[in-house]
Amino acid sequence: AVSSAPITLSARFAQAFPELSIPWQAEATYDPGLVILNEELAQDLGLDIEWLRTADGLRFLTGEALPEDAQPVAQGYAGHQFGMYSPRLGDGRALLLGEITDAEGRTLDLHLKGSGRTPFARGAADGQAVLGPMLREYLISEAMHALGVPTTRALAVITTGREVYRDTGGPGAMLVRVASSHLRVGSFQYAHALESNAENAESSGLVARLVEESLHRHYPSAVAQHPEVPAALTLFREVAHRQAKLVAQWLQLGFIHGVMNTDNMTISGETIDYGPCAFMDELDPRTVFSSIDHQGRYAFGNQPPIAEWNLARLGETLLPLIDDDPNRAIEAAQQVLNDFAEAHRQAWFDGMRTKLGLSATTNDDVLKHLTDRLFALMAQHRTDYTSFFRILATAAQVPADQIPATLAQVVPDDAEFHAWVEDWQQLGPDPELMDRTNPIYIPRNHLVEEALAAATGELDFGDTAERDLAPFQSLLEVQRHPFAEQPGRERYALPAPETFGRFVTYCGT
Ligand code: AMP
Ligand code: MG
Ligand code: MG
Repeated sequence: AVSSAPITLSARFAQAFPELSIPWQAEATYDPGLVILNEELAQDLGLDIEWLRTADGLRFLTGEALPEDAQPVAQGYAGHQFGMYSPRLGDGRALLLGEITDAEGRTLDLHLKGSGRTPFARGAADGQAVLGPMLREYLISEAMHALGVPTTRALAVITTGREVYRDTGGPGAMLVRVASSHLRVGSFQYAHALESNAENAESSGLVARLVEESLHRHYPSAVAQHPEVPAALTLFREVAHRQAKLVAQWLQLGFIHGVMNTDNMTISGETIDYGPCAFMDELDPRTVFSSIDHQGRYAFGNQPPIAEWNLARLGETLLPLIDDDPNRAIEAAQQVLNDFAEAHRQAWFDGMRTKLGLSATTNDDVLKHLTDRLFALMAQHRTDYTSFFRILATAAQVPADQIPATLAQVVPDDAEFHAWVEDWQQLGPDPELMDRTNPIYIPRNHLVEEALAAATGELDFGDTAERDLAPFQSLLEVQRHPFAEQPGRERYALPAPETFGRFVTYCGT
């Protein structure tokens, strides 16, 4: 159906990349219900909030009534899942509605997840998504945004009126997602495979076009800065650099993505795919929450080498565009990977320096020694990662013999730990810098679970499950200002009670 939506959707990607797009429609919803609308984001996008809340607006958001020129498509991509190559993953249950231009003139994808089966869906995959996981993505991606981490955003969650039947079934729902694009490492893998197939003469030049598009959308000034460098190499460098910083930010916040497959790594450097992700409580690099990550491939501390591994897969698709001589191409790509490791190391040190409130002149060796000692003590005492850094700030400018009582909450009565605090104090830490860097509030697993249980009606028994969105809204509200003390909301800053037990996450729901 065509709507008179007061919104312009461009079909830029669909028209420029027919090889990567299958024109497709969202499945009809029986009884759509707007569960939550991100008014702040809608405003930034220049959307009419009141109209979005009308029946027409809702049918726009579900992809059922789009402006006349819209060309919704399912996007094709490949990807390594847990290291295994899958040549045709595509979006099995997602649609690119089109691109919109925000108030600042930026081009953004408007995208649906859970809008029904597409031709890319595999096997018995139903194309549906479930309310709980869509609300979870909404909450955590918005929390990441407020924490200052580049991420896709959530515009709305809508129930479809369908019931989803699977192991973890529930009310069917879709997420309306906004991203600076949905180009991923897997998009390049898919394009490269198409182009490598001699039967696809019409795909020749596809990867080069994708390089152009990626540079245009995400790194518009990069080529002009390096006119002598092949565009593909410039793109590779830029992506590697952004990913190096992104993963450093994850580590600083204790974030575990959980499913860093190559199809879940963006070209823009935004965090994408909030399936099995979670925040770590106690510092332990081996921390894994995902039910399917048996080997710990995507464990907390493994994220930097995995990002590098994924970038190597991107580099492979670009080699012919980097240099005609394969050896020289490999050498140049290898250099980018080395630079990634160095850029990540630097970003990590810079982040740790600010987390500890230290000045930019603090030498890397001093910092390394300090963090090595600290992390060993934190691991030994099972210290809560998030509250430690925030509370540590209270001891920043206190004479060493007058350690504030607050510190006892996070630093055990241990001589070595106290010696560490004194050594750190000697470096003159700045508590205001720490408070700007170390959040009080992160979406802690027990809080997220509690909010989702209420929001999905899981707390009720029998067939008249009442959904209560209030706890979800409260948690979301707290997460909008993660660095600001919010009186009366102290419990949101506390670690999970012992009774919460071991936490497990699931993807693909
Ligand atoms: P993910 O692990 O979330 O990155 O998903 C990998 C691929 O599986 C993506 O192309 C998804 O669209 C697809 N997929 C996940 N769940 C479903 C589903 N219920 N129906 C169809 N495709 C799905
Ligand atoms: Mg994905
Ligand atoms: Mg997913």
